[in-house]
Amino acid sequence: MIPQSFDYTAPATLDQALGLIAQGAKPLAGGMSLIPMMKLRLASPEHLVDIGRLKELNYIREGADGLHIGAAATHYDVETSPLIRGKCPLLSETAGYIGDVQVRNMGTIGGSIAHADPSADYPAALQALEAKIVLQSGTAQRTVSAAGFFVDTFATALASGEIVSEVIVPVEDAGTGTSYQKMVQPASGFAIVGLAARIRRAGGKIATARIGVTGLANKSYRATAAEKALEGTAGSATDIQSAALLVPQGVEANSDLHASADYRKHLATVYASRAIFAALARTA
Ligand SMILES: Cc1cc2nc3c(=O)[nH]c(=O)nc-3n(C[C@H](O)[C@H](O)[C@H](O)COP(=O)(O)OP(=O)(O)OC[C@H]3O[C@@H](n4cnc5c(N)ncnc54)[C@H](O)[C@@H]3O)c2cc1C
Repeated sequence: MIPQSFDYTAPATLDQALGLIAQGAKPLAGGMSLIPMMKLRLASPEHLVDIGRLKELNYIREGADGLHIGAAATHYDVETSPLIRGKCPLLSETAGYIGDVQVRNMGTIGGSIAHADPSADYPAALQALEAKIVLQSGTAQRTVSAAGFFVDTFATALASGEIVSEVIVPVEDAGTGTSYQKMVQPASGFAIVGLAARIRRAGGKIATARIGVTGLANKSYRATAAEKALEGTAGSATDIQSAALLVPQGVEANSDLHASADYRKHLATVYASRAIFAALARTA
């Protein structure tokens, strides 16, 4: 349980951090995933650059295109921010489900999504929100969709020398209701399955539906068949349950000692129904 020896730098600026990362140093944010991996010797970086303390990466503000959340914002910051609670409640609700209070105080949104654990909570919400992820290197910046960012288990669109600098989520309108529902693995707190629903109702019908899924497959995804099935319906119990059955469609489900593939698929349909019901109840 003792990591291999490593160098540690706490740079004063983002530029300095990106310079070191370009030379091969590994970013350290909250350390909630990286330090346990180092202790188990699943990762042995020679040089850690602490970006979790950079004020340049720790902000939550509103822009013309949505809410901008710096990568070093902790899960607690996201959970409790009045701006996010008021304008993008799905994200703050999801943050409140992560781990325990210690993890939420230390872990960051940038670290969580860069780690890309297939059972992490944020990815479901970010898929449903059609969030944008800003990637920054010492020389360039680019923006990718959440759908394009999560590539595989513990694999993302991040290129060598890049960090996640910011997450951009939409400001919800009054007709939109959202909910995150999670079957918790009690020992770790991670999601056996986690379902994020985002429903906009107009003229008594479901105008748009977005459903993000985590825990079921190798990576988070949007359940587009279920979304299409819901859109245009009145959102009756039958409409919701029929759509929820489509959530695991075409997915190769994870299987482990906590839940078999078939049981996970069943859970996904149950938690999808719950999330959609709850989201619909929150539409104006
Ligand atoms: C007991 C426990 C319970 C947990 N329960 C849950 C849970 O229920 N749900 C859940 O979703 N998560 C859970 N987690 C994980 C937690 O959310 C972590 O905070 C998160 O996975 C990693 O964030 P971090 O800021 O700690 O990153 P770190 O551990 O510092 O880094 C993780 C990885 O991301 C890289 N990295 C960090 N920041 C960036 C960046 N900005 N750009 C590019 N790369 C970066 C690091 O180099 C490293 O590879 C749990 C963790 C623990 C220890």
